[in-house]
Amino acid sequence: MRDRHNMPGHRLVIVGGGFAGLACAESLKDSGAKITLIDRRNHHLFQPLLYQAATSTLPLSDIAWPLRQVFRTRRDVTTLLGEVAGVDAVARCVRLTDGATIAYDTLVLATGAQHAYFGNDEWAAHAHGLKTLEDATRIRAHILTAFEAAERAEDPAERQRLMTFVVVGGGPTGVEMAAAIAELARRVMQTEFRNVDTRDARVISLEAGPRILGAFPESLGRYAKRALERQGVEVRLGSAVTDCGPGHVTARGRMIRAKTAIWAAGVQASDAARWIGAASDRVGRVQLAADLTVPGCSEIFVIGDTATVTSVSGAPVPGTAPAAKQMGRHAALVIASRLQGGSAPAPFRYRHQGNFATIGRRAAIVDLGWIHLSGPLASWTWGICHIWFLIGTRSRIVVALNWLWSHLFGHKCARCWFPRGTEPGGGADKNLDCFKKSDRGSFDIRLG
Ligand SMILES: Cc1cc2nc3c(=O)[nH]c(=O)nc-3n(C[C@H](O)[C@H](O)[C@H](O)COP(=O)(O)OP(=O)(O)OC[C@H]3O[C@@H](n4cnc5c(N)ncnc54)[C@H](O)[C@@H]3O)c2cc1C
Repeated sequence: MRDRHNMPGHRLVIVGGGFAGLACAESLKDSGAKITLIDRRNHHLFQPLLYQAATSTLPLSDIAWPLRQVFRTRRDVTTLLGEVAGVDAVARCVRLTDGATIAYDTLVLATGAQHAYFGNDEWAAHAHGLKTLEDATRIRAHILTAFEAAERAEDPAERQRLMTFVVVGGGPTGVEMAAAIAELARRVMQTEFRNVDTRDARVISLEAGPRILGAFPESLGRYAKRALERQGVEVRLGSAVTDCGPGHVTARGRMIRAKTAIWAAGVQASDAARWIGAASDRVGRVQLAADLTVPGCSEIFVIGDTATVTSVSGAPVPGTAPAAKQMGRHAALVIASRLQGGSAPAPFRYRHQGNFATIGRRAAIVDLGWIHLSGPLASWTWGICHIWFLIGTRSRIVVALNWLWSHLFGHKCARCWFPRGTEPGGGADKNLDCFKKSDRGSFDIRLG
């Protein structure tokens, strides 16, 4: 094993250019490995701010970066656009959907997770999930089109249906989405329509559990609920969704007539466990050894949201961006030490850096373990941390200015969209296969 690892030009294949894959490739600078990074998108996406793209606060180009550009100065990294369909662990190669194979000596699978509908996949057509730039573009178009249709609707009941927005799931993404839609309706567009008052829009947050933001301390969850309600969001707890159809959502036996439903509940890991025939948990995350390799396959690492690991404290490592980055760096450490013939590093140890959620412009909660923050101070902490984690000085400056502008004047800079074919499954979606196309300006003309 060690001889093979010490061979010059060791072929390291990383599948997935998200937080985990990127951190792994970045940490292996000067390692001597020949790195091939494969992703089915041409960009790295900063998912924590995706809801801001979906609600017109930020243009797509501020939260995604072409992978090729990220690694332009790294001669040891080859970036390939391709979708992996399987792994042949005996022949040591990955198989792409177009039939091509790419050989590896070491393989890192960092393919993330997607939203899950708890076995009701047919709901996906009616309740949009938020995971990719295409999802954000589609949701944004859907929200803005609903207001446009309401402006022209003559039947008051239909107008109300068009201006009702249901967000399923009371985790950070659901809470952030609900607050952002309420803000759009009440503080951004309220003077722009003539036949409807956008402040009459209903935003309903449905949570199956007894409280929202279950991963946060109870006091912060209570604060967040009050903040949401102050912003006009109806929070319904103990409301598991039992049906989603065209124009309606049913929860707790009550049907809500709503043109727009957004799904922010439940995740399912990528197919990595199936590709390598590894043991997985109930949401498909690969169970790993302490060095983040697959038990019995020391040359295959699985990192990020598609892996399940227990931290030293015994708690499961959360599916968050900092955790994915830490796993990426640890896998890189193990790979680098193997390449140098060194001894194995200590087992992976997760360091919790805090939980953050924002509720509109002025409210946020931060749980750093040793201190809990809420209100404007938490908002500032949230903002500074997110700006810090963006890639590149340009993005940091542009996002900070956009937030400042939006905060001071209530303007949203990304409110243009293709007028036709933007419904789920519509024609425009098919044009959004890669970031380059979606960033042409058609969607993100800045209105100031
Ligand atoms: C809307 C939203 C909001 C979030 N907010 C926060 C937050 O505020 N704070 C936080 O810490 N975390 C947040 N998260 C979670 C965080 O984004 C994830 O934990 C993190 O992205 C996981 O990183 P990853 O590298 O494992 O996966 P990802 O970042 O999802 O990257 C996976 C990559 O693999 C690629 N890929 C997948 N399948 C294939 C395939 N078959 N072939 C080729 N490429 C493939 C994908 O294109 C993608 O680039 C949020 C997630 C979402 C969806």
